[in-house]
Amino acid sequence: MVMYHYVQDGPGMKGLTSDEFRNQLLHLKEEYKIVSMTEALTPGNDERTCVLTFDDGLKDSVTTILPVMKELNVKGTFFVPASIIKQKKILHVQKRHLLLSKIGTEVFVEELNNRLPDALQISADPVFKADYLDDLLTCSLKWMLDFLDFDIIDPILSDVFKKYIGDEEEIFDEIYLSGDDLYLLLNEGMEIGVHGHSHRQLGEMSFKEQEHEMVSAKDILMPFVLDKPLYISYPSGSYNPLTLRLAEYYGYEAGVTILKHGNGSSTNRFELGRYDCNEVYELVK
Ligand SMILES: [Zn+2]
Repeated sequence: MVMYHYVQDGPGMKGLTSDEFRNQLLHLKEEYKIVSMTEALTPGNDERTCVLTFDDGLKDSVTTILPVMKELNVKGTFFVPASIIKQKKILHVQKRHLLLSKIGTEVFVEELNNRLPDALQISADPVFKADYLDDLLTCSLKWMLDFLDFDIIDPILSDVFKKYIGDEEEIFDEIYLSGDDLYLLLNEGMEIGVHGHSHRQLGEMSFKEQEHEMVSAKDILMPFVLDKPLYISYPSGSYNPLTLRLAEYYGYEAGVTILKHGNGSSTNRFELGRYDCNEVYELVK
């Protein structure tokens, strides 16, 4: 299974261009049969399969990704944060990507620090050296954005976003898929799955909060899942044992993580592994 986010031509977010995306698919097709998640999970399917997955419900799905997939006649599964169908609020993850690419780490940190209390100042402090592959200041920034209380960071991030990028309602439609876009993907044989409701990290939430995310996301996205099985991609790859129980209890058929491993009949269907698209050339040599 391979995970994609941004595929764009022209300046913008870090990601693949449509040519790079096309080349990756051609490369994968040499080794694997590219199929939907449902086909891959069908019992008795022992072909060497590869599933393409796309997180975050980005507009790229219909503007750049779909045309290439149609051209090469392959199907994929698109995981959508349910809130984007209901409200024009840009998710933290995209605010962070847009701000980092527009103003860079240092200005971003300065703007946040101007709005954060003393105890929460972001600095190049070794205490924040988490699993990130960045310099210390960026590690500290990412950790704060990932783990600081949602209620504290949300209004601050909105304020900085407004200052440098603009009104989030106005640019919302350029960034995310609409309900009509989801129907378009379905008409082309693609599958829609759940990527949480608010895109908050499930593994960091209480049982009740996780339950709310799972149930409300399912309610909103069911009209787009149709008669297909319901799948979930855990936002930021975050989950805990209760997430797995809740997913099964509420009728999800499988869940995908960001753990880098292949999947077989012995893999827990709620902990399916995915490789990042940057690793495609290591999968097929
Ligand atoms: Zn995501």
